[in-house]
Amino acid sequence: MKATCWMGRNTVEVREVPDPRILNSRDAVVRITSSAICGSDLHLYDGYVPTMKKGDILGHEFMGEVVEVGPKVSTLKVGDRVVVPFPIACGNCTSCEHGMYSVCENSNPNAGLAEKLMGHAPSGIFGYSHMLGGYPGGQAQYARVPFADVGPIKIEDDLPDEKVLFLSDILPTGWMGAEMCDIKPGDTIAVWGAGPVGQFAVASAYLMGAERVICIDRFPYRLRLAERAGAEALNYEDVDVLDTLRDMTAGRGPDACIDAVGMEAHHPTPAMYAYDRVKQAARLETERPYALREAIMACRNGGIVSVIGVYGGVLDKFPMGSLMNRSLTLRSGQCHVQRYLKPLLAKIRDGEIDPSFVITHRMRLEDAPRGYEMFKNKTDECNKIVLTP
Ligand SMILES: [Zn+2]
Ligand SMILES: [Zn+2]
Repeated sequence: MKATCWMGRNTVEVREVPDPRILNSRDAVVRITSSAICGSDLHLYDGYVPTMKKGDILGHEFMGEVVEVGPKVSTLKVGDRVVVPFPIACGNCTSCEHGMYSVCENSNPNAGLAEKLMGHAPSGIFGYSHMLGGYPGGQAQYARVPFADVGPIKIEDDLPDEKVLFLSDILPTGWMGAEMCDIKPGDTIAVWGAGPVGQFAVASAYLMGAERVICIDRFPYRLRLAERAGAEALNYEDVDVLDTLRDMTAGRGPDACIDAVGMEAHHPTPAMYAYDRVKQAARLETERPYALREAIMACRNGGIVSVIGVYGGVLDKFPMGSLMNRSLTLRSGQCHVQRYLKPLLAKIRDGEIDPSFVITHRMRLEDAPRGYEMFKNKTDECNKIVLTP
């Protein structure tokens, strides 16, 4: 089959690789009909996630048709149409039983690697480094799906791929980012990052009853998409974000702040940007956490900071004093996607949300290298790319 392979920093290639096959009794093999390139794939592309190996198959947002099932998968049959969540979860461990699927205790065969860096291991994730299991991803023609009786959700009506594909990651991730804010009617929420996850966090915050949602980015076309989801846009290259947020909230600050940026944030002040860029390039810190620092400083006293942007390791100049002295709550997590599949599919079916509004580019799988380049450099107003084999 053809698959998008990580070949080193800034290099992906679509290569011929062996077809996946059933390895365990709870596996399924899915023929992929649509997959997507995620903002978090750019952290791999840029070479900032440790434990990638040349030839690793990328992609954790995919859906398709079941072509083979293991003997213990009774919930799916050949021919079923499914969306596959990005975290791989067994469904039986203590974490899974508590709905914490992205920290499943049984799905990461390389837990030891992750433990060295993080203390304890999270779940395996498709196409996202060996530390997270070394699973081949779904920017390919086929994928093996472990624990296929737990993760994939069947799409039984005629909703097109583009409306349901993002159940695999970015829609539930944006939703969980808003859910962690404990939104009450009248709340003001600020979202750093107007990429697809930020756009979904904006839409989710309104569905949960927020009165105002403010979105912060520097790309006008991304801010326009956030505005279409109802947000008030702030371009941090034009305004001082902390001052402006204070002015917009009668001096108090937003009730909750969502970091939908993660480890490769950009900063408009050259000196500040240089500090973290140099340290990150020298591998002295793995993150450039400007958005997170600003989200903490901006949040009102007693408010919540919700982190859904991806981080990989350790960071500098974390404003712990602000967090502690002002009674802030910090929440985070890779999305527990399996939890949200059914309720969010129902919202899509009812027309409460149509996630396809984030798509700007549709490409053949073979064009994935061009897609990565374009998405990285934000050329042609690239917001979200869907790949079809
Ligand atoms: Zn993703
Ligand atoms: Zn589990």
